[in-house]
Amino acid sequence: MDLKQKIREIKDFPKEGVSFKDITTLMQDGEAFKYAIDEFIKNLKDKNIDIVVGPEARGFLTGTPVAYGMGVGFVPVRKPGKLPYETESYQYGLEYGSDTLQIHKDAIKPGQRVAIVDDLLATGGTMEAAAALIEKLGGEVVSMQFLIELESLNGREKLSKYDVNSLIKY
Ligand code: 5GP
Repeated sequence: MDLKQKIREIKDFPKEGVSFKDITTLMQDGEAFKYAIDEFIKNLKDKNIDIVVGPEARGFLTGTPVAYGMGVGFVPVRKPGKLPYETESYQYGLEYGSDTLQIHKDAIKPGQRVAIVDDLLATGGTMEAAAALIEKLGGEVVSMQFLIELESLNGREKLSKYDVNSLIKY
């Protein structure tokens, strides 16, 4: 299936010069959504995955159906102040300033094999942070799966020590 054709591109969103990749058009198409999630599961099925992690917010949408389909658990990685229990934090640099992501301290057990799923790979900063959190808890990041990869931003280079896979490339 040509998944790229299901993505809607929005010019100058959220700011001028950005061509935003809108995944809602793919998700509202039942056949395309199922195909994409099944592809993720196919990519992960021989990797002995114990748990799936998804970063806020579109990683929730893509990660939970993968976890459900594989019969493993799902762990959210969130912006500060959203998770109710004790958290581990990781701060990472942005073009201007920095951002922080958090995970529940007991969400991953040492030695667990983890797959991270998100909608889009741009610079790789989000994934690097998610991976660092998982590793702080003793988990092993076995694979990273994306719907979309923006190849010109070289996120794959930043994540070169990981298994990185994407279904749609720009
Ligand atoms: P990165 O940290 O790799 O630079 O950025 C990736 C994160 O930004 C992802 O979590 C993704 O949800 C969000 N993101 C950045 N640009 C886009 C876009 O064009 N479309 C969508 N759907 N998400 C984006």
